Amino acid sequence: MADITIFPQLEIPETIAAGPGPGNTDPRVLQRFASAGVADHMQADVLRGMIEAKLMLREIMGTSNIHTFGVAGTGWSGLDVMFSAVMPGDKVVVFTNGTFSGIDGLTVRMKAATAEELAANSLDPKPASVTIIDVPHGESVTGEIVEAALARHKPKWAAMAHWETGSGRINDLRGFSDACERHGVMGLIDAVSSLGVEDFRIDDFPGVHGWASCPQKGICCLPLTYAPVSFTDRYIETLRASGTRTFVHHPIMEARHWGIIDGKDVDKGSYHRTHSAYAVAAFHEALRILLQDTVARRAKDYEFHEAALRDAVTAMGCKVTSNMTSLVVLNLPDKLAGREMELVQSCRAAGFGIWPTLSEPVQVRIGILNLLNQAAIADIVTRFGAAMNAMGADIDMNEITARLDRHFETAMVAQ
Ligand SMILES: *Cc1c(COP(=O)(O)O)cnc(C)c1O
Repeated sequence: MADITIFPQLEIPETIAAGPGPGNTDPRVLQRFASAGVADHMQADVLRGMIEAKLMLREIMGTSNIHTFGVAGTGWSGLDVMFSAVMPGDKVVVFTNGTFSGIDGLTVRMKAATAEELAANSLDPKPASVTIIDVPHGESVTGEIVEAALARHKPKWAAMAHWETGSGRINDLRGFSDACERHGVMGLIDAVSSLGVEDFRIDDFPGVHGWASCPQKGICCLPLTYAPVSFTDRYIETLRASGTRTFVHHPIMEARHWGIIDGKDVDKGSYHRTHSAYAVAAFHEALRILLQDTVARRAKDYEFHEAALRDAVTAMGCKVTSNMTSLVVLNLPDKLAGREMELVQSCRAAGFGIWPTLSEPVQVRIGILNLLNQAAIADIVTRFGAAMNAMGADIDMNEITARLDRHFETAMVAQ
């Protein structure tokens, strides 16, 4: 018998997840995850939990779309389901302004490529029917940019990230939706970073026909669960007419297990694939927590805590270029410029999980997903300041801490 190695049990330390995602998981979610009994994916309470989760998801997303449910996996799983309606030869305009919308663009190019176009460059196809409108890193996609491109190209589909997490920029969803409506284009939105962080209702954006998000950012449910998706009836009719070449990620078929059959809610799901009782229980609890907090309350908390962090890092001499409320993207002060990777690596090695940008230019990203309290923000600021000082930044941390305290005191007085 060949030698086999059995490694020691895997220990993963507790770190501060202060990046763009995943966010910190609520103990209530982990408790539900670990307390679920072993039950198969057709057991009555598992099916009931999925139906309740579907109904809570409609509330959180602000929609009456029947086709609203979760896709097992991460953000890309939900996005793959959403983009599955894009067929070879479809005319699509994609707006990109960073890492994630860039990958959305690649996904669309793979789906819209004809067989010949795909074979010509299978990992990076350049189909004639897809137009990529590339907006520079650090800038937002504006309604004017969308309007001009849709007027010129008259595509079947248009796609954009609501919040581009690569550069921390919010794109103009209102302008996008309006332009889609004016030109009869079906909009598709990557809402992976915004759902559960900003207070918005998807039904207020009628130019958008497909939405996809993720479990581990605003929904705070990393124990790998479900990526929320939602589709209008027009999207579903279009898909039903064209078909798509996937079984597992077929929006109509995947919806069946969530009790959505022939465009109607039914009281019991039917088998599509195996679902985990643990994942259903955790996702269900994360949605309950978000509804109890309310999306509006959480959005205000993100605004307040992002402002505190932004003020502190600005006082340390950093320049913030983002405008998302769950994430600060910054340039280091001139005297530390070029040492971003070194700084991020030293923080990460100490269990302080901040991130660099994943595409040029190199910047530092600090996120606050589910870190919405004074102690958590103070900890982030103290650790970040100490890391900068270790590189010779010479910041007076007493002054920074006093500023931060004032930010929180002002809020207490205001309440
Ligand atoms: C995080 C993110 C993704 C990818 O999500 P995964 O959960 O890593 O699959 C896609 N789009 C945006 C805008 C994101 O922020």
